[in-house]
Amino acid sequence: RAKQSGRGRVLIFDHKLNDAEKRRTRIMRDLPEAIANGEIVPYYQPIICTSKRTVRGVEALARWTHKELGPIDPAELFELAHMAAMASDVDKHLRTMALEQVKPWLDNGLINYLSLNISPQDIVCEDFAEKFLGRLKAMEISPQSICVEILESAIVSDLGLAHANLEQLSAAGVKIALDDYGTGFSNLRALLDLPLDKLKLDQSLVRALGTNNKVGNLLISIMELAKALDVRVVAEGIETRLQSSFITSIGCDLMQGYLFSPPLPYAQMNEWLGEYREKVA
Ligand code: C2E
Ligand code: MG
Ligand code: MG
Ligand code: MG
Repeated sequence: RAKQSGRGRVLIFDHKLNDAEKRRTRIMRDLPEAIANGEIVPYYQPIICTSKRTVRGVEALARWTHKELGPIDPAELFELAHMAAMASDVDKHLRTMALEQVKPWLDNGLINYLSLNISPQDIVCEDFAEKFLGRLKAMEISPQSICVEILESAIVSDLGLAHANLEQLSAAGVKIALDDYGTGFSNLRALLDLPLDKLKLDQSLVRALGTNNKVGNLLISIMELAKALDVRVVAEGIETRLQSSFITSIGCDLMQGYLFSPPLPYAQMNEWLGEYREKVA
């Protein structure tokens, strides 16, 4: 009997694994069409200055509502896009849309910068910086008004090529942010060698505030580190006033989170930005 139910469980497990595998295959197969049909779009989340409470920038974040499977989590989207060797295509499509949509906000001073997440494959791609700068020039967008967010893990894979791209972008005025800071290896050498402008504190650190009395001190010491490196700090995942006031009190420069706004589609963010400006002014 015991053996039988054991077998039964194995069968159920296999069946589920199969469904998950089918889903993944399906998502990978549907990616090219989803890009072509504009099913994958950027949403925008505001980045707020802690001292003045004004909006400094927006981060573009991918959103895909699959016609049958519904919303696909961005983490899953990029994991599978990477496996299908399509992460660059997804990013390129999103960058093009985001640059076109956000240009008016930059031109009329509603925001100072657009922050773009760059896939690990792109940042180690030989002509990435050149092509990206060319595209900005063609669109008459100042490199100064663009921030690229990269993951520490991406740089570690090929420090040389990543370094060359980042130097070229930085020399042209593009800002460089290290995303999800505090979750990776925190390679101090990379912090010293790369032309960084910002550290983006991972939301898991913000969420841990108040649960553990070491977290506050850790964040304070990261602020010290940032001062030593002459980089700004952005806190992600700010959901409560308590988190916002602590982050402000330790001298963090920028913050982002549901307390201000979740990522919103273009038209809604357009409205939000107008209303927020009236409120703060
Ligand atoms: P990320 O760049 O660190 O983005 C921040 C994530 O935190 C986003 O998740 C955002 O929706 C979420 N978030 C913002 N505020 C809050 C908050 O107050 N509370 C909580 N719980 N979450 C908050 P999302 O959109 O699911 O994206 C996940 C990751 O997927 C991103 O992390 C980024 O690494 C990647 N990603 C998203 N869009 C793109 C893209 O266009 N290109 C690339 N290469 N990666 C992307
Ligand atoms: Mg990011
Ligand atoms: Mg992050
Ligand atoms: Mg993240």
